[in-house]
Amino acid sequence: MRVLLAEDDEMIGDGVRRGLAHEGFAVDWVRDGRAAELALAENVHDLLLLDLGLPRRDGLTVLAAMRRRGDRRPVLVLTARDAVDDRVAGLDAGADDYLVKPFDLSELAARIRALVRRQLGRAAPRMTLGPLALDPATHTVTLDETPLALSAREYALLDALIARPGAILSRAQLEEKLYNWKDGVDSNAVEVHLSSLRRKLGSGWIRNVRGLGWMIATPAAA
Ligand code: CA
Repeated sequence: MRVLLAEDDEMIGDGVRRGLAHEGFAVDWVRDGRAAELALAENVHDLLLLDLGLPRRDGLTVLAAMRRRGDRRPVLVLTARDAVDDRVAGLDAGADDYLVKPFDLSELAARIRALVRRQLGRAAPRMTLGPLALDPATHTVTLDETPLALSAREYALLDALIARPGAILSRAQLEEKLYNWKDGVDSNAVEVHLSSLRRKLGSGWIRNVRGLGWMIATPAAA
């Protein structure tokens, strides 16, 4: 899951980025409202974490413009304590939720997961495909009830694939799930992580569709 963080406070921004990375999110951090708008235009993030007091363009303006464009991605507003007016204004402008600083990072992560889940219209937090199950709340994957030990990147790839069983995801779509902008993207990194994921899942789950990308399906459906 890839999150855009718009926050000009270095300490808060750094803490949130580290905390969410630890929870398995890819986080891109921008420090002003203009940069947030440019990043939103790339359309690669699943959710926006928005500080309202941003330089160059304030958070409420960014949020209102986003909703005017018809961008329905979830927005979680980060506000200062006692800023009741900010919270009301944020919700009125189309925010989905808010958290008051300072907040607990595990609560932030849980709220992000809940918002994205709601956005995707999934009632059940667990995603299953036949005997394979992925639980975003605990970051665990089980096959026939047996836990699989996956790396953060293997988990991110499986998360992307299992969200759309039978759909072919391109290399670019999978790379987006793996990397922050600042990371160098190794040209065959997706293949490396997929190959190790395939070894752990066993044969037949992840199929390469030559020239197009990869898809997941239950081996029995082959
Ligand atoms: Ca601020």
